Amino acid sequence: MKRVSIFGATGSIGENTVDLLGRAAPGTYEVVALTGGRNVKRLAEQAVALRAEIAVTAFEDALPELRAALAGTGIETAAGTQALCDAADRPADWTMSAIVGAAGLYPGFAALRQGGTLALANKESLVCAGPLLLAEAEAHGARILPVDSEHSAVFQALAGEDIAAVERIIITASGGPFRDWPLEAIAKATLAEAVAHPNWSMGQRISIDSASMFNKALELIETKEFFGVSPDQIEAVVHPESLVHALVGFRDGALMAHIGPPDMRHAIGYALTWPERGEVPVARLDLAAIGQLNFTAPDEVRFPALRLAREVMATGGRAGAVFNGAKEAALDLFIGGRIGFLDMARIVERALEVCDGEIGLGKPLESLDCVTEADHMARKAAHDAAAVLTA
Ligand code: NAD
Ligand code: MG
Repeated sequence: MKRVSIFGATGSIGENTVDLLGRAAPGTYEVVALTGGRNVKRLAEQAVALRAEIAVTAFEDALPELRAALAGTGIETAAGTQALCDAADRPADWTMSAIVGAAGLYPGFAALRQGGTLALANKESLVCAGPLLLAEAEAHGARILPVDSEHSAVFQALAGEDIAAVERIIITASGGPFRDWPLEAIAKATLAEAVAHPNWSMGQRISIDSASMFNKALELIETKEFFGVSPDQIEAVVHPESLVHALVGFRDGALMAHIGPPDMRHAIGYALTWPERGEVPVARLDLAAIGQLNFTAPDEVRFPALRLAREVMATGGRAGAVFNGAKEAALDLFIGGRIGFLDMARIVERALEVCDGEIGLGKPLESLDCVTEADHMARKAAHDAAAVLTA
């Protein structure tokens, strides 16, 4: 039996993972830990349905409710940031990292120390701490499998190939809800408009990041960190149908494209059963009915996050942690109604400048403490920049 844990079980990726585990033949998986945030009722339901050993909420004040919901079930409960890392220490063969944001960093590192497989949906880990994460995996004989759909697609296109023969990696972007909006309209976009993704059903934060293309920006950096290719080998292309997830170009001119429906259960299922391919209940594409696939160049004026991602990739070091931390703070400010949609990119750009002066963005990351320091500094710089913008 494969022992599995899910960090961020109650989120969009987590629920899709729970769905796949629930469909597996009895005796295939043994569920160790499930974690969530404030959605304690759902976490308890999942823990009972999957007979988990332990359910953990990230928030200590939510523990009494979790305890009450699981009373008499024999399922252990815990709460808080340290409890998340303790849960990641429990022996598991396969761990899904699907907490949203930099909060997923420490549990992911803890899970790697067991030497199993980390299925990585939490792209922020790679953006903030890519070299450290890969080194930790190597030191403990652990394997990281990408779950972001584009990176799973690249990973699949690379199966059996030599990375040295790769000329370029192209990840696709749906373009989000504002793909064809003029700049003036994007500037006035509301929260409700930003979360309404045309193709994918995802958590609120990544949906807004898709609308601003900060999600694609994070994914460009994620591509560089995970596959170790140089920034000038990485491209993003807008593909409104969201059926081609990524393409890998080789030195003989061949392009290997990965095509599939916009359903995260494909990438999750691939990581779950790797190196085999298991049955995954996603829709089968009818190419004749689809008829055509469209591709256009992304617009870095209307979507400045893409330009910033290029700068971050070129700089390396602490730039990713600062970029992500500032982006998370700016996103909170937008969700809170404090800033406009395009202010997010302005704030991140300013935070990169300020932090460069204070800590030097290009300085290598020596430890996770450097990541935390860069993250905190970035959030403060973002708040300072927002105060200036809204004064
Ligand atoms: P979500 O918001 O739906 O779920 C997030 C999960 O993390 C929930 O279980 C929540 O309770 C938990 N969580 C939130 N804040 C936390 C904190 N401070 N500490 C601990 N746990 C916390 O998010 P999602 O859309 O499932 O995305 C999860 C991760 O997967 C993100 O990194 C995202 O970028 C990535 N991802 C998501 C998709 C998708 O289709 N949703 C696709 C690719 C990558
Ligand atoms: Mg993606």
